[in-house]
Parts: sequence; structure tokens; C-alpha cells
Amino acid sequence: MNQIIGIDLGTTNSAVAYMTDDGPQLIPNALGSNLTPSVVGIDEDGRVLVGSAARELRVLHPDRCASVFKRYMGTDWTAKIAGKEFTPEELSSLVLRSLKADAEAFFKGEITRAVITVPAYFNDQQRKATMAAGKIAGLYVERILNEPTAAAIAYGFHRQDEEKSLLIFDLGGGTFDVSLVDLFDGTLEVKASSGESILGGEDFTRTLAGRVLERHGLSFEKAEMSSPLMVSRLLRLCEGAKVRLSREESTIIRMPNKNGDLEEDGKQITVTRREMEEWIGHILNRIELPVRRVLNDAKVTKDEIDEVILVGGATRMPVVADRVTKLLGKPPHCRLNPDEVVAMGAAVQAGLFAKHQSVDEMVVTDVAPFTLGIEISKQLGSERRSGYFMPIISRNTTIPISRSDIVTTLAPNQTTIMLKVYQGESRKVEDNLLLGKLEVKGIPPAAAGQEVEVRFTYDLNGVLEVEATVIATKKKMSTVITRHAKGGMTPQEIQQAQKDMERLKAHPREDSANRFLLRRAERVYQELSSDDRQFLSRLMDGFEEALSMQDAIAIESNREALESFLDRMDPNIDDLNQENE
Ligand code: ADP
Ligand code: MG
Repeated sequence: MNQIIGIDLGTTNSAVAYMTDDGPQLIPNALGSNLTPSVVGIDEDGRVLVGSAARELRVLHPDRCASVFKRYMGTDWTAKIAGKEFTPEELSSLVLRSLKADAEAFFKGEITRAVITVPAYFNDQQRKATMAAGKIAGLYVERILNEPTAAAIAYGFHRQDEEKSLLIFDLGGGTFDVSLVDLFDGTLEVKASSGESILGGEDFTRTLAGRVLERHGLSFEKAEMSSPLMVSRLLRLCEGAKVRLSREESTIIRMPNKNGDLEEDGKQITVTRREMEEWIGHILNRIELPVRRVLNDAKVTKDEIDEVILVGGATRMPVVADRVTKLLGKPPHCRLNPDEVVAMGAAVQAGLFAKHQSVDEMVVTDVAPFTLGIEISKQLGSERRSGYFMPIISRNTTIPISRSDIVTTLAPNQTTIMLKVYQGESRKVEDNLLLGKLEVKGIPPAAAGQEVEVRFTYDLNGVLEVEATVIATKKKMSTVITRHAKGGMTPQEIQQAQKDMERLKAHPREDSANRFLLRRAERVYQELSSDDRQFLSRLMDGFEEALSMQDAIAIESNREALESFLDRMDPNIDDLNQENE
């Protein structure tokens, strides 16, 4: 099948969409939801769970689950779940595989091509890791697209004849991006992007949990080590509390015991929105610098921005919108659903590739989010000092871009030069990030000052290639810069990971909804009073019995009874947001 899908592979939630004649459309998962939590678990019988069911499992069995792994893309971090080691690429590939399966069920055919979004502020290593995850999941990645750019595309899609300057403010679960985008004549031009790769709603939830523990005389780090079940339950409760505080002035957080159970006479505390805002104030301060950078780099004043657009679940917090209003002098809006808009933009980009008729006029340009360059040494008086950064591509240059500069040998008869490639904004390389190395060999022995041309090519995916040419011989050497610590994933490693992941089986898709319901019931059970527990237990027995008898009518009626009881006792976080809209 030739269909290309657009995927938002988020820290907290992922989504998949496709292009139709009427614009982008989300594809629901097996539970009928447009959002799939980016959580991976392995259940008792060794099968993989992805999404809501894994998110439930995480509360009772954190050792069987991994989440927030997007934060570790492009690093050597691994997660051990149910005794098996997983890389961030592998975990991401399992989420992608689940989205791919949803799209395949929707289209009733195989899907092999996708546009996948990443934070604009993702570096080279993180982008390559995302591409590897796509490959492991059996997807050819047509394009790595920046998330705020995708959001801008979704907004720009219906308004191709307007001339506007948009500021996209994207605060999700794990990352923060801000981009300034100009819209004119069917063109969408990203002028500048900035952000922080570790800043988002997850940090707010953890801060809240930390404060709750503190009130009970505990520290987060110690509690995580000594009572992981208490912490996993508390994090879940704090996420719910955080979401409620976006609508209510105060809320109650119950304190689980060491085993993660909520006892009837257990402790609880009241947290007000004001307190929550105070506690996360220092984290929120960090949004200011990237916003200023973007305005500076794009050379616009805040008055020249026509619209400020909010993207990402964490922007639902009133304090975030207030901060944005203060910073930019105008109230932001989020006319499109902030959780879904990135996947929708990815679908439009997929439509551009497929030459879909509704988007054939749209041109999109993006920028490099970081300055890229190499280490050089400098002659300062009589002393030669190394460790200086020579930029080759400046941040916020429009991509694709190819730029070169000349370096020279320092000693007579020097035949090699080690090029060290860095990204960052500091004058000294020690404060920048080492991306990789390229050894230039075969320089003919001669006096010092032999020239080597170093060319950086930054492609549309935001992936860097470095090429060096010895001027005297015209000999070229090149490398796609890979993760320096482990050398990135080689094609062989990707193939191996593909095989390993294929061996992990999922449950049949048609069982997903029932399995999720039982998982949720198990989690809620421990949060209830004993009377309610008994009642829930009976509902669960009835449902499990109907399932084992495979009696469709009984399954349906028992499911309804169980579901409505759970909805009453445990308002779903995601539903809370939907009620709001
Ligand atoms: P990502 O793109 O990183 O996957 P999302 O855009 O889906 O993230 O946002 C998820 C984050 O938004 C989570 O931390 C979640 O708790 C938070 N969030 C969602 N809804 C609300 C709300 N109503 N109030 C506060 N935070 C919210
Ligand atoms: Mg997101």
C-alpha cells in the first residue's frame, strides 16, 4: 500500500494521522482513542503491551514497564523490563509498531512509509535514533519533521492565502520547543527555533510528587529506591491532580502506603493551584530564554507576531498561558487540539510527499536549531591554544544547507588532521556537544599550512554529513556523524533489533479493549474502600467469566457495567481534557 502516515512520537502520548481530501485526520487506536500513551510493558505471559494498558500496568508493576524513554533517544541508556534490556530506539519502535498496526487495521493493508516528528531542538544523534526506531518498526522514514513545524503546517494548511507571523509554543510531557514561522503565498517558512530537550509536564508531575513526599517527611530519590510501588502510584495520582488543577482551585492527593496501596484511613493532603504554580515556578522560568532567542534570531519584536499558538498537553495549565501572555504581550490560542495538531501536521507533510491534491501548492522550509562546527586551535601571542569552536553552519540557517571552511595543518609534514565536530553556541568546545570525529588522512608531507576543506551538509531531516577534501590531492573523505559514545546503530544492529523486536509478540488486537479494561480495574481496585472493592471485584468476576465463556452478549453487558463503575470511581485523565474542549 502506498499510503504515507504522519506520526507524532511523543514523550507522553503518540498519535498517527493521514491526509484526506478534507484535510488531515487522526487514526484511532484499538481502544478507539486518538492518543496512544508512549508506554511499553511486558505482561506476565511475556507479551508486549503498548499504550493505555501499559500505562495501567506501570502503576502496579513499574518493573515491567518503560516510559519517558524519548528523553534518552540517542544515548546509551537502556531500560530493563521484565528482565530484558531495551534501548530507547527499540522501545520507540514498539510504540511505532503499535501505531503502524492501528493504521493497517484502519486501511486494511500494509503501511510501510511514514513521516515522524521530533522536537525541533532534537540534536543529530536524537534524530538518527528516531530514524533507526522507524526502521526497526518496519517503516521507511520519509522525513523527520520538527514538531512545532508540523503544528504550524496543520494551522497553515487551511489558510494558505494568509500572510501571518506565528509563534508556536510547544510544551509537551518531556520537551519544550518554540518556533517562529512566517506564512505567505502558500509558503510556510520557519525563521527560527529554540527550546529545551528536558522540560515538560513530566517535570511538573515529578515536582508535585516530590512536594507531596516532602510533606510526609520523605525524599523522592530515597522513596523511589525503597518503595517503587508507592512512587509509581503517587506519580499517577499526581498526574491526575495536576490535570484537575488546570480546572479547579484545589484538589486532594491521597498518599499511598509503602506497597502502593491506598488505605481507607491513609494520609492525604490538599494542594491548591496557587501552591502548584509556586512549586513549578523555577521550571517555568526556563521557557523565557528560548522565546527570547527565537525573537532575536528571527529579528522580530513581539509586536510583529500575529498569533501565538499553544501546542502540547502542558499548555493546558492556566499558569503556562499566563506566562506566555506576559512574555509576548498577547493572549495565545489553541484552536486545534493541542495533543493532536502535531500528528495532523505530519499527515499534511505526508500528503505533500504523496502529492495529495489538497496540498500541492504548499512549500515548507525549516531551520537548523543548533550551530554546528569543529574544534580549532588559536595562536594567542606566543601561545597556541586548542579547544576553540569554529562555527560552520550557524543556528537558524534555513535547511537544506551546505557550507564549507578551510583548516590547515599546524606542523611541517603533518599528514593527518582529526576533525572534531561539535554543536552548540559556546566559544569553547568544552561547553558544546561533541557529535563525532572524522580523521583526515593522506595529506602530502609538506610545510605547515596545508589546506583541507571541511564541508558540512545539513539535510531536510536535520541530519548532518561532514566531508573533508585535501586541497593538494583533491582526495575526499566523508562521514555521516554518528553517536560518538557507541558509534550509533549500524545497519546490522538495526537488523538485529528488528529481529529481536519481531520476536516479541503482542496480544491480538481485538482483545485490546478488554485487556485494558481489566488492567485499569486492577489498578483502581487498590485505590478503593473495601465496600467498593467488593463491588468492583464482583464486576470483574462477571466480566472475566463472560470473557472465558466467549459469550458476546454477556461480555457486552458486563463490560458496560464495569466501565461505567470505573468511570465513576476513577475519572480518566484523558476524558477530563475532552470534557474541557
Ligand atoms: P508529548 O508530546 O510529550 O507526548 P503531550 O503534548 O501529549 O506530550 O502532553 C502530555 C503532558 O501534558 C503530560 O505531562 C500531561 O500530564 C500534560 N497534560 C495534559 N493535559 C493536561 C492538563 N489539562 N493540565 C495540565 N497538564 C496536562
Ligand atoms: Mg508532543
